[in-house]
Amino acid sequence: MISGRCAACKNQRRRCPSDCIFSPYFPANDPQRFASVHRIYGGSNVGKMLQQSPPYLREQAANTLHFEAQCRIQDPVYGCVGIISRLHQEIHSTETALAKIQTQIVYHKLKIPRVEAESNLNVLSTLDAESNLNIFPAQRRNMQEFQWPNQAPWFN
Ligand SMILES: [Zn+2]
Repeated sequence: MISGRCAACKNQRRRCPSDCIFSPYFPANDPQRFASVHRIYGGSNVGKMLQQSPPYLREQAANTLHFEAQCRIQDPVYGCVGIISRLHQEIHSTETALAKIQTQIVYHKLKIPRVEAESNLNVLSTLDAESNLNIFPAQRRNMQEFQWPNQAPWFN
């Protein structure tokens, strides 16, 4: 058994060259990582995709291929699109709930001034009643003052 082979070369039962495209991204201590991408894409296709990727993006490409392969194994029909679809549904239901709450906030904001207006109307009617009570004696007093001088010359 040759030691130091990467997971891909171990899986393919070949010698792992020093410039192996797989070895930085598929270490020997995680054989399942390569097994899943091999199962979904095929080992040589993974190697081609890594070769075609610029070196600074290869780690990200390997991680993405692994993630997508895991999703496809768990959900053979939709793969990672199933996750995207579920997240879109969550966003939609959350936006719907947010819109309902915003509508309720607007409704309650509109309702509070109406209550204030109603209570102001009650206050106004109370003030009117009080001022009317004050007006009546004043009018009565004015009438008395008004009637007496007018009556005096006519009746005297
Ligand atoms: Zn290798």
